[in-house]
Amino acid sequence: MNTEKLTAGEVERAAAVLRRGGLLGLPTETVYGLGANGLDPAAVGRIFAAKGRPQDNPLILHIPSADWLERYCQNIPPAAWTLADQFWPGPLTLILERKPLVPDAVTAGLDTVGIRCPSHPVCRAILTAAGVPAAAPSGNASGRPSPTSAAGMLEDMEGKIDAIVDGGPCSVGVESTIVDLTVRPPRLLRPGGVTLEELREALGEVAVDPAVERLMGAGEQPRAPGMKYRHYAPRAPVTVVRGDPARCAAYIAAHLGPEDGVVCFAEFAGDYPGHRVEILGPAADKAAQARNVFDALRAFDGTDVPAIWAQCPDEAGLGLAVANRLNKAAGFHIVGLEGEP
Ligand code: AMP
Ligand code: MG
Repeated sequence: MNTEKLTAGEVERAAAVLRRGGLLGLPTETVYGLGANGLDPAAVGRIFAAKGRPQDNPLILHIPSADWLERYCQNIPPAAWTLADQFWPGPLTLILERKPLVPDAVTAGLDTVGIRCPSHPVCRAILTAAGVPAAAPSGNASGRPSPTSAAGMLEDMEGKIDAIVDGGPCSVGVESTIVDLTVRPPRLLRPGGVTLEELREALGEVAVDPAVERLMGAGEQPRAPGMKYRHYAPRAPVTVVRGDPARCAAYIAAHLGPEDGVVCFAEFAGDYPGHRVEILGPAADKAAQARNVFDALRAFDGTDVPAIWAQCPDEAGLGLAVANRLNKAAGFHIVGLEGEP
């Protein structure tokens, strides 16, 4: 299949791809998504085929405004409206009870559905013009780092999707925060652009799913089915080094092999002469780190580095989302320097 490249102005052509059951690369503020008409099970099925995504990993339904929520969800708790008022359009996905018209292909047979109203103006214009919600996972091949540009998505999806819209680079750079509102207290399933602190300020108590911070053991069933899969992984194995930035930088310099690559804060980029270095962002700028983390990981795939070492921010604010993506890329292979003298 020839993948048609559309500009941000070609909203009608993009909407037509969704309406006729095709696959569309969609810019959002988080990452690029692989969208299909979320009410058409056959179209949704093509998403799984193009990504090589396991069938039991449900998709998020994207809507152009909060007033579409009641079309697809029932027994909506007040907390959902509180969060929608405060954070939509934006990088927040709500898990709610689904209505029967939401296909099993979207929810992987669950009686809940993940819903998000993205803020990217091109994405919302396409959804509005299409008149249907888009089921859209991140636009990477399953297991790979998520794409934050149209070119990045084409690396994985050229020839596998009908069209892609270039809406520029993603402003957030990591996927949406997912919060499950069908349990009490509400539970954070995936950290993202809306922080845990912001959720707690809006709702009071919010639990954190254990899969956010550690590898699920055999037989454990995370509430976000996607969390049990290997994720965000570049081709070379990754080791995350966590703790005071200067000490972590020194630890990496002392331990890395001659051909190894490094993902580090901007301040330490000069500490690894002769090595391939990708910059996460300034140590204090977690928004920049979120924008860069997937590109930094993807950058090594064109190289033959045998291993990657990564610095990692603390978990306050957006740091929780950045650390989660790095830790998952590393298969939770983490060196912690926090407690050491
Ligand atoms: P992505 O494929 O990167 O868009 O990720 C979507 C994430 O949302 C995956 O981790 C899914 O498992 C999760 N998800 C989608 N729908 C649900 C749901 N109904 N309940 C729990 N998690 C969900
Ligand atoms: Mg994904």
